Amino acid sequence: RAAAGEEAEYPRWVRVNSLRSSVEEQLETTFARFGRAASLQDVMANSSRGGGEARKCVYVDEHVPGLLAVTQGTELTKTEAYTSGKIILQDKASCFPTYLLDPRCEDGDVIDACAAPGNKTTHLAAILHTHAPEFASPAQTIFAFEKDAARARTLEKMVKTAGARGVTRIGPGQDFLQVDPRADKYKDVGALLLDPSCSGSGIVGRDSMPELHLPELLDAANRKTGQTTTTKKKKKKKKNGPTPSTEDAQKHDSNPRKRKHADVEDPSDKILRDDEGNETVVTSEKDLQARLDALSGFQLALLLHAFEFPAARKVTYSTCSVHAEENESVVMLALASDIARRRGWRILRREEQVTGMREWPVRGVAAACGGDEDVAEGCIRSYKGDGRGVMGFFVAGFVRTGDDDDADY
Ligand code: SAM
Repeated sequence: RAAAGEEAEYPRWVRVNSLRSSVEEQLETTFARFGRAASLQDVMANSSRGGGEARKCVYVDEHVPGLLAVTQGTELTKTEAYTSGKIILQDKASCFPTYLLDPRCEDGDVIDACAAPGNKTTHLAAILHTHAPEFASPAQTIFAFEKDAARARTLEKMVKTAGARGVTRIGPGQDFLQVDPRADKYKDVGALLLDPSCSGSGIVGRDSMPELHLPELLDAANRKTGQTTTTKKKKKKKKNGPTPSTEDAQKHDSNPRKRKHADVEDPSDKILRDDEGNETVVTSEKDLQARLDALSGFQLALLLHAFEFPAARKVTYSTCSVHAEENESVVMLALASDIARRRGWRILRREEQVTGMREWPVRGVAAACGGDEDVAEGCIRSYKGDGRGVMGFFVAGFVRTGDDDDADY
């Protein structure tokens, strides 16, 4: 069976969970009857071929360790490897943030700030395991926060299935912005992964707004909601005052000790879904811009909060959005922030990145980085439909390398 629609142009990405299995074991068991493809393009070509012409094949990815590209059309969710957590179905680009963060023993504890459903939490656990196979001393803990209680239950299930429970402390219903960076239990947190809610414009099968004409977007949205006209859907009423703008986030940053977190809400909750939980309806470019401004303000506030953890030296920031507003613009505002300058946070330059990320060819948009080539090269992007078989994604790493520690903090 060949995959239908846009998905047919993509391979099925499979992350082998090193807590439960290995690439070698999976190639000999789950994928024993799959041919070994010579290239990713072979996998993609076979994915889109129908009938008897399709050939099941698998390719070992050259950028992310432990990742396989498999032809579409196999019910992997019914395999023993999937149900027992040996393999995790995760897009290649979604593996970039954890791989780029590269947490090691000397980095201490790790925070996954926006964790559900848990793809990156379980990837973090697998990487810690790779560096210290028995989670040996000094033991590291992953603190995984998830604001939404229902999604936190999915996270708990995924962490359990993946065999990552021993190393993960889940904060169900916990808003990361309410977490006190100075609390004693976070004093050894050296690395944070920040993968906040975003517009999702990079997701395969979802309308990608910058390239899309608004009438088409409206038609698609109305088809989903069963409407025939292009009227604006009623948005949920806000609970706690206005949605934050990037300006608000900067204001908060200028006085971090007095920052009020309670008024910083996830705008995607209100703006991405209508009352029935259907996709967003955007009626004008102004609406779209307002939505992106709200999202980027929220994303920046989370990122600046991550910068506050006293022992933190590494942060990754990621979205599955293709909009510069949610990506390079957030990076630039973060770098220009008071907290970044005081604590010495800077971009993780391309030449400092782990091999696979250094070699990944698609980088940030220089124009959106004010022409700063170092920052643009440090940013990692992907675009759906460009022949690389991945979703639209963005990730940037930040580091703090000085000896200052907390002298002035
Ligand atoms: N990292 C996850 C993964 O790879 O499986 C995906 C994260 S998803 C893009 C963003 C998640 O952040 C959502 O589950 C959302 O409920 C949660 N979230 C949003 N705002 C949050 C906050 N302030 N604190 C904690 N979690 C939050």
